[in-house]
Amino acid sequence: MTTYDYDLFVIGAGSGGVRAARIAANHGAKVAVAEEYRVGGTCVIRGCVPKKLLVYAARFHGEFEDAKGFGWSFAGADSGAGGAQFSWATLIANKDKEIDRLEKAYRANLQRSKVEIVATRAVLEGPQEVRLMKDNRKVTAKHILVATGGWPFLPDIPGISHAISSNEAFHLPELPKSIIVVGGGYIALEFASIFNGLGVKTTLLYRGEKILRGFDEDLRDDLTTAIRKRGIEVLTDATPTGLEELAATGSVKKLRAHLSNGTTLDAGGIMYATGRNPNTKNLGLDRAGVALGAKGQIKVDGQSRTNVSSIYAVGDVTDRVNLTPVAIREGHAFADTVFGKAPWSADHSLVPTAVFSEPEIGTVGLPEAEARAKHGTVDIYKTRFRPMKYTLSGRDERMLLKLVVDASTQKVLGCHILGPDAAEMAQMAAIAIRMGATKIDFDRTMALHPSAAEEFVTLRDKWVPPAAAAESL
Ligand code: FAD
Repeated sequence: MTTYDYDLFVIGAGSGGVRAARIAANHGAKVAVAEEYRVGGTCVIRGCVPKKLLVYAARFHGEFEDAKGFGWSFAGADSGAGGAQFSWATLIANKDKEIDRLEKAYRANLQRSKVEIVATRAVLEGPQEVRLMKDNRKVTAKHILVATGGWPFLPDIPGISHAISSNEAFHLPELPKSIIVVGGGYIALEFASIFNGLGVKTTLLYRGEKILRGFDEDLRDDLTTAIRKRGIEVLTDATPTGLEELAATGSVKKLRAHLSNGTTLDAGGIMYATGRNPNTKNLGLDRAGVALGAKGQIKVDGQSRTNVSSIYAVGDVTDRVNLTPVAIREGHAFADTVFGKAPWSADHSLVPTAVFSEPEIGTVGLPEAEARAKHGTVDIYKTRFRPMKYTLSGRDERMLLKLVVDASTQKVLGCHILGPDAAEMAQMAAIAIRMGATKIDFDRTMALHPSAAEEFVTLRDKWVPPAAAAESL
C-alpha cells in the first residue's frame, strides 16, 4: 500500500482552507496546511473583517451629523462631523491589533485540531505531491486541497503602479485629501463610502452605465442617488487609460488619471477595485494536470472535485460565489465528504449578501429582472420611506424595501433592502425565503413596532409601473 506524508495537504489557510483542515483533522485525518502570508486569509487579514472595522469608523461621521437633531452638540468648529477629530493612525493601529488577535485565534484552533501549519508558499508537483518553497522540500499527500483564494485585478495601463488596491488601502500611512475609487462592484462602493465618511473627497469612477451589476435595479439606482447625496461624486461610462504622478506640493502626492472620455481627474490617491482573479498563477496546476476555466479558476464539480481525482479546490480560487461563508461551507462539505463518510455539498442558491456602503445594501434571492426572466409573471411590493431616525436628524435619505414574489405560487423570490441595518435584515429574510415563505406568510407575521423591517409584513399594495397606473385612471 502506498504511504503518504499526509492524508490531506491544504494550500492556503484562508476561510475555506482552515475550515476544511480542521474538520478533516477532527475526522481523524493527518493534515497540514501551508500559508504563505498570514493565517486567516483574505477575509480576516485584508477583507471582510478589517473592512467592516473601517466601515464602523466611517459611519461615525453620519452619526455625528444626525446627532445634532437629537440635541447633541460638539465642541469646536461646527462643520462636517461637528468638529470631531479623527486619527487614521489610531484606527489602523487598533484594527491591526484586532487582526493580530484573530490570526492567533485561527492558529490556536488549527493547533487544537492537530493540524500542522507550515509557513511557506506551496506549489503542486504532481497529483499527490506538493513542494514547500521555504526549504524546497517535497511532501506527499493522499488528497490535496487548493484553497488559495483570489487577488485584486489591476489593468495593465501606463502608470498603474501609482494605484493601490484594497490590500494597500488597509495600510495607507496617511489618508489622502482626495481619492478616485475605480470600479462599480461591492468593494469599490464600500471603500468609496469608507473614504467619504473619513473626510476624503471621493470620486467613484465606473466604466459601465450603472454601478453594482447583478443587483436589483432599484438598489442600483437608489444607492447611486444616496451616495451622491452623502458627498461621493459618481462618474460612469469612463475608465482610466493612464495614470501619472504630478509634481507633489510639499509632502502631498498628486496623481492624475487620464480617462477614456478624453478628460482628466486629479486626486491624492487612486484605488482600483475592478475585480479579483483566482490565485492560480505559478501554482504547478499544469504539472498536476488540473483543468482551469477561462478566468484561470480551477474547474470543480458540485463536490469541489477537480478533474484530477486526488485534488480538490474550494473558495475564491474556483470562482463560484466569492464570499467567505460560501468558502467555509465548501471546505466543510469537502472534509465531511472525503474524510467523514458523510457526503454533502454546499448549496450556492439563495446566498444572502451585503454591500457595506453608506447607506447599506442587504439582499437575498432574485433581482426583479432575473425573476421575471426565470418565472414569468412576478408581483412586486416595494416601499420607500424616510427611516424614523432621519425625521429628527433631517437627513434627506430614503430607505428601500422590496419583495419580488412569484405571481402564481406567491413564493417570495427576492428581498432587497437599502438603508440602515439592511445586512442584518437580509440574513433573517434569507431563512424565511430558504424555507419557501410566501407573501401570505410575510403578511401573517406580526409586525415589530417601531422598526423599519416591519414594513416587510405590512406591504399591501402591489407596485404598479407609473405608466400602467396612469392608464388605469
Ligand atoms: P482566502 O481567504 O483568500 O485564502 C487564501 C489563502 O491562501 C491566503 O491566505 C493566501 O495567502 C494563501 N495562499 C495563496 N497561494 C498560496 C500558496 N501557493 N501557498 C501558500 N499559501 C497560499 N466576503 C464576505 O463574505 N463578506 C464580506 O464582507 C467580504 N468583504 C471583502 C472585502 C474585501 C476587500 C475583499 C478583498 C474580499 C471580501 N470578501 C468578503 C471575500 C472573502 O474575503 C473571500 O470570499 C474569502 O476570503 C475566500 O476564502 P478562500 O478560502 O477562498 O481564500
